[in-house]
Amino acid sequence: MVINHHGLLHGFVVGLAVISTGVWICRQAPRVRADNTPQIIASYKIGVELKFDEKQRPVHLEGREQLLWFNNSPDPINELQFHLYLNAFKNEKSTFFKESGGQLRGESFQPGEWGWIDVNELRIAGGEDLTSKIEFIHPDDDNADDQTVIRVPLAQPLDPGQKISLDLKFTARLPRVFARTGYWGQFALVGQWFPKIGVWESTGERRRTTPAWNCHQFHANSEFYADFGNYEVSMTVPAIYRGKIGATGKLESEQVNQDGTVTYKFNQANVHDFAWTVDPHYLVVTRPFKADQHVKPSEIEEWSRRLGLPQDQIRLRDFSVTLLIQPEHRSQIDRHFAAAFNGIKYFGLWYGKYPYDTLTIVDPPYNADGASGMEYPTFITAGTSWWPGHDQNPEEVVVHEFGHQYWQGMVASNEFEESWLDEGFNTYSTAKALKTAYGPNVVPFNLLGVTWFDLPIEIPHPYEDRILTLRGEFNDPILTPAWKFYDVTNYFLNSYARTGLVMNTLERYLGEDLMARVMREYHQKWRYRHPASQDFFETVNAVARQDLSWFFDQFVKETKTLDYEVAKVESRRTGTAIGIFDRDGEKAEVKEERKAQSGQSYETDVVLRRVGDAYFPVELLLRFQDGNKIIAKPAAPRDALIEYQFEDTRTGRKWNDSWAIKDRWKKFKFTTTSELQLVQLDPGDKVLLDANLTNNSKALAETGLGATVRWSSEMMFWLQNLLQAIGGLG
Ligand SMILES: [Zn+2]
Repeated sequence: MVINHHGLLHGFVVGLAVISTGVWICRQAPRVRADNTPQIIASYKIGVELKFDEKQRPVHLEGREQLLWFNNSPDPINELQFHLYLNAFKNEKSTFFKESGGQLRGESFQPGEWGWIDVNELRIAGGEDLTSKIEFIHPDDDNADDQTVIRVPLAQPLDPGQKISLDLKFTARLPRVFARTGYWGQFALVGQWFPKIGVWESTGERRRTTPAWNCHQFHANSEFYADFGNYEVSMTVPAIYRGKIGATGKLESEQVNQDGTVTYKFNQANVHDFAWTVDPHYLVVTRPFKADQHVKPSEIEEWSRRLGLPQDQIRLRDFSVTLLIQPEHRSQIDRHFAAAFNGIKYFGLWYGKYPYDTLTIVDPPYNADGASGMEYPTFITAGTSWWPGHDQNPEEVVVHEFGHQYWQGMVASNEFEESWLDEGFNTYSTAKALKTAYGPNVVPFNLLGVTWFDLPIEIPHPYEDRILTLRGEFNDPILTPAWKFYDVTNYFLNSYARTGLVMNTLERYLGEDLMARVMREYHQKWRYRHPASQDFFETVNAVARQDLSWFFDQFVKETKTLDYEVAKVESRRTGTAIGIFDRDGEKAEVKEERKAQSGQSYETDVVLRRVGDAYFPVELLLRFQDGNKIIAKPAAPRDALIEYQFEDTRTGRKWNDSWAIKDRWKKFKFTTTSELQLVQLDPGDKVLLDANLTNNSKALAETGLGATVRWSSEMMFWLQNLLQAIGGLG
């Protein structure tokens, strides 16, 4: 999902076999696999009819669903659990409603425009009718009125390796769209719309210690989680939607029925969700992504080299991209395709080729902003008008939503419990793709009504993430279940911007190529699987060949602030001191004039202070009047110490000193032949998590260098003030 910037950051923003007996034995590979071929757990065959109400609004859904579910765990399973997401919009007593107050991403619910879903029938295929055994449960809170999760006990446990086939009938009403799904006018975005089975997690999966269903209620601040499967969905829609439909997967057939309705069939294998849309106004444009046209041989070579992989593992594949766009945005068709092709290219080169045969991009109408900026497998919603009154940035939203094909579409982390693994990783990857494709001036976010997408000056940092991150007061660590954050701002800032800063800081700490290998390895290892945060940490440690627990503990699992400052600097000439000295048995006085002439060297004290609670091996640079430099490189924290290696660039002399992690300050002493001019912490701008950059340097003399440092400090000071001003408004 994209966060929206309204009023300031309310977010910124198959084959499916159904057999007669329903249950059968089928021993298959264990749940954790060595390769990354998809594990097919939950496959759906759905036939649904979309009907108008008396006002010609596309609100009614009537569906039949055949679910084939595979117990590939070692556990006998006594009950099934399902999501009924649309009941989040049923009344003011749903958990979603209570948490959101009927608002999401700046969009408001319209009273009277409720949405809901009923399961009318649920039976084992050719067997027991389970309908009367359905009961609502609320695993996340004490809200007995929430109806977004059901449980169905099984008379016979489903043994390891068995499959169960279920037949369901359901009726639903779409809400007026304000939170991803619903209708507006004759437009409909049909998402989270069918009874959907939860994820059975056995011991060890996502690091859990006891096996259980993972089937969370629908919350205001959270997205989704599901198993992979094959989808075969046919939608029957009123005649006005003929040729004006888009969906997950590939269109297999179109059939005009006797009553004038039209039935469309779409299929997609190896995905974990299915969404679709209709709007009689859509312009439908299809263009091919051609790997050998859109990717230069030099780019294949470059990424083959940087990732250390053979070129055939880097090469991308051809497939077709379909855009359903509002006619008034016709002039932006090329920009949408260019953005999609850039996303396909860079995510593909970096993390691995896009494996599906289609990608569908939807441009919801102006009044249906709630449906824009959302991701489903092979199907994304963009939205040129996703910020009302502004008509820009299809690039950002298209690249971001496409990015979710990788972070959560294929690497299917649990968005309820670990939102940083999808939104945050995608914030990091999106900014990188945008900057690579559109140049370094691209800052993909809006601030106070100003689009920073294309600034006339080069921005040296991911400032957008800094600005948003530093605005926040962090009451929760990044690794917090989405619905348990202190408030919506803490959810958004942690899941998106703060993770972006953490990932960019990690990249600058490890180096770009090593980080690229980390991300490639993590994606490939966990494609079509469900990683937990710890799996990412372990991938980083393995690829980087070092233990980075100190980094993740502080910046992902805790709320510690990182801020170092240059607290004091003193540089004085040595060699002589004034006063009375004993020389050759006599007393001699050294006076002020002599001292001034005789100094041969300088003694310099630099006091660094750790202002925040977090520690970090921050580099240090000292510049002297004669142009000499001393560079201090810290090692990774070890044994409660950060060891510094100093090097005098003129003499080549090297020496070590250390700073105990628990100590708030450290004085470093230097003896040099020239007076100190400037001390700078983090001269390479690596530590983007440093909350205050204005205290990172001190200049002793009025020099050009000092002025430069002060200028950039002033810019930061200005940005930080701006930030506080915004905080006041928000
Ligand atoms: Zn997103």
